[in-house]
Amino acid sequence: MIEAKPQMATSKRPFDYTNIAFLTLTPLIGIFGTALYVWRYGFSWIDLAVFALMYVCGGLSITAGYHRYYAHLSHKSSKILQFFYLFFGAAAVENSALNWTADHRNHHRFVDTDADPYNINRGGFYAHMGWICYKDSRDAKTRYQSVPDLLKDPLLMWQHRWYLALVVLAGFVFPAVLGHLVGRPLLAGLLWGGFLRVTLGHHMTFLINSAAHLWGKRPYSLDNSARDNWALAPLTFGEGYHNFHHKFPSDWRNGVRWYQFDMTKWWLALMRPLGLVSNLRRTPEPHILKARLQVELAAAKNKISATEPSWRMAWGDRIHESLEAAKTRVEAAMERYHQAKLERARHARPSAMRQGLESRLEAYRTEFLNARMSWKSAMRLVNRLSYAGATKNLMTVAAILDLLKSRV
Ligand SMILES: [Zn+2]
Ligand SMILES: [Zn+2]
Repeated sequence: MIEAKPQMATSKRPFDYTNIAFLTLTPLIGIFGTALYVWRYGFSWIDLAVFALMYVCGGLSITAGYHRYYAHLSHKSSKILQFFYLFFGAAAVENSALNWTADHRNHHRFVDTDADPYNINRGGFYAHMGWICYKDSRDAKTRYQSVPDLLKDPLLMWQHRWYLALVVLAGFVFPAVLGHLVGRPLLAGLLWGGFLRVTLGHHMTFLINSAAHLWGKRPYSLDNSARDNWALAPLTFGEGYHNFHHKFPSDWRNGVRWYQFDMTKWWLALMRPLGLVSNLRRTPEPHILKARLQVELAAAKNKISATEPSWRMAWGDRIHESLEAAKTRVEAAMERYHQAKLERARHARPSAMRQGLESRLEAYRTEFLNARMSWKSAMRLVNRLSYAGATKNLMTVAAILDLLKSRV
């Protein structure tokens, strides 16, 4: 059992001047240095390509490697990919995989409390980058108690031991030499692929700890501050769907819907047929639906409790009961549909049995879609309930109750 050891108040913790200097100098050199370079020597598409390549390699190493593989064990990864993640993860300069993962597992376990390393309740700036500006007040035993598995991983511990050398080599020497090999001066690759790229990568990751705990929707859980923020997804390779992620952290996807921009999910989907990743953990659909319905039900109950008291006394309990019953029916319909899908997948070859399973699946699908549609329509009507307006509310309640019974 992991004990919650809070970080000391910032007033009692010494500043980490190395981190402060790095976090200040990289944007200064990255932004102004690169702008000055372009002004003096001009722009080249090759420099932008080195920047983009390094950004993608560093970014995926953090999201697919540090985050979804090491921190959450959402899948199995081949040694060659692990090496890729550890090399370019160092290039992202976000700490060794061991330290990053230890902090991140503590973030999930103790989210929104003082034992959460980037606790949003200490303010947006603290969660964004303020926490990095102070020395950690916990001893090594406490800090690493959440990562006993990783302490036994020789490749990861190699990166931890040689982290600073790897930062210099992968984060700065590599892009400079890469640019030079295609005809650019060393300084161009160093500025574009090193300093500027590190700055952007830093702040995109930091936004997940700050903005994704402040702004956005909470469709899967109201238990903590994590939010789904689609605007953060593109530059963070899909990590913006943070409410889903906190609810189902071991799922290999963060943007669970097919249309949600989750480049890390697509990267892993691409690596799977190449045999480089396997055992991708997927939350069963009924669990995801149950979480959504729970949040929708809570919102409906809030809406009903905001209506006029005498009306609420007369109708509130009846609507609550109908909502609960309808929720159970939608969940049961989904479970039947889900089981039918699994069974069909077990009988891949065409046969009479497969044909029977197909038609049963279709019937369960229709049943589920109808139940879900009735639920959604009822939710829309609940949202239209107003504080006053008894006649209007009476008409709405009749429609809500009708929807919750019918077609389910
Ligand atoms: Zn979080
Ligand atoms: Zn996480």
